[in-house]
Amino acid sequence: MTPFDYERASDASSAVARVAANPNAAFLGGGTNLVDHMRLGVAHPQLLVDVTRLPFSRIESLPDGGIRIGAGVRNSDLAVNRTIRERYPVLSQALLAGASGQLRNLATTGGNLLQRTRCAYFQDVTTPCNKRTPGTGCSAMEGHNRDHAILGASDHCVAVHPSDMAVALAGLDATVVVLGRQGERRIAVTDLHRLPSTTPERDTVLERGDLIIAVELPPLPVAANSAYYKVRDRASYAFALVSVAAALEVRDGRVADVRIALGGVAHKPWRALRAEAALRGAAATDESYGRAADAELADARALQHNAFKIPLVRNTLRMMLRRLAQGGRS
Ligand SMILES: Cc1cc2nc3c(=O)[nH]c(=O)nc-3n(C[C@H](O)[C@H](O)[C@H](O)COP(=O)(O)OP(=O)(O)OC[C@H]3O[C@@H](n4cnc5c(N)ncnc54)[C@H](O)[C@@H]3O)c2cc1C
Repeated sequence: MTPFDYERASDASSAVARVAANPNAAFLGGGTNLVDHMRLGVAHPQLLVDVTRLPFSRIESLPDGGIRIGAGVRNSDLAVNRTIRERYPVLSQALLAGASGQLRNLATTGGNLLQRTRCAYFQDVTTPCNKRTPGTGCSAMEGHNRDHAILGASDHCVAVHPSDMAVALAGLDATVVVLGRQGERRIAVTDLHRLPSTTPERDTVLERGDLIIAVELPPLPVAANSAYYKVRDRASYAFALVSVAAALEVRDGRVADVRIALGGVAHKPWRALRAEAALRGAAATDESYGRAADAELADARALQHNAFKIPLVRNTLRMMLRRLAQGGRS
């Protein structure tokens, strides 16, 4: 591991200034992803600015009925928060589907959002990877690509975004509050992460020195009937092959409101707007659910080893919508 300096940030503005001024500096949350990357040689910051002691560890109600989650809130604390469990169960379930108890005790909301892809080639510094070393090529394109993207990929990168929590937040219309050099700004979670295009080295729209300070959830009645389902190779301690975050309200046999986001399918949490549009006002039937899935997957492109993801998304989404239409019962 490259030697590095460690500082504990005492206030947010100076943390931003420190990292903004130094291209070799990085914020440190729980360190469960960044420190792994330092060990692997994927990341070599020379200065770590620890942001876990900043005053961002609260979950608070907002005047409009929404919820503000501090960026330093640990994944474990967020998952068991009573308001989250009752009003946004999809978020609690997504968190509990990720990593392990020990990791969730350390992992922060801000760090979780910015964790990097688990593409094996990205993590293996002996192989070409456009995301790790731009211009070297994408080893996954013709390699082991069973875990890779079916939506929104490019010729430069087929990696998928790994965070379960971010998929739930994408479905909940959440907003990320960022403190940067020019002050605070707000970014829809769905706009935070990027598709790879020709610059896969950029995971997000954030600029150097941008510090995530909070995530806000809007008051969203439909979210009370929501759930997260993660399909994976093992029952725990495994990333999603595909996942579905969904919220559904059915009135008089028709879909009155719906939110859907998909994980394990793209370089970013994938908000399924086409499926939602197909469902709004439609009869709450398996046929409608299948049509909605087909609309979302119309542009899906499989690689050599991941064609199974297309029917897997379709079937998982239909199953989730059936369950939610029955009030969450299977
Ligand atoms: C064995 C293992 C299994 C896992 N399984 C899963 C899984 O199934 N599902 C899942 O979703 N995740 C999984 N994870 C990933 C885990 O959720 C992440 O490592 C964790 O959420 C990252 O949070 P952190 O606070 O430790 O981030 P860090 O490692 O501290 O930071 C990650 C990145 O975010 C930046 N950063 C941190 N905080 C901020 C901030 N406030 N503002 C701006 N930038 C910031 C850092 O500079 C770094 O670039 C797994 C991890 C491991 C090691």
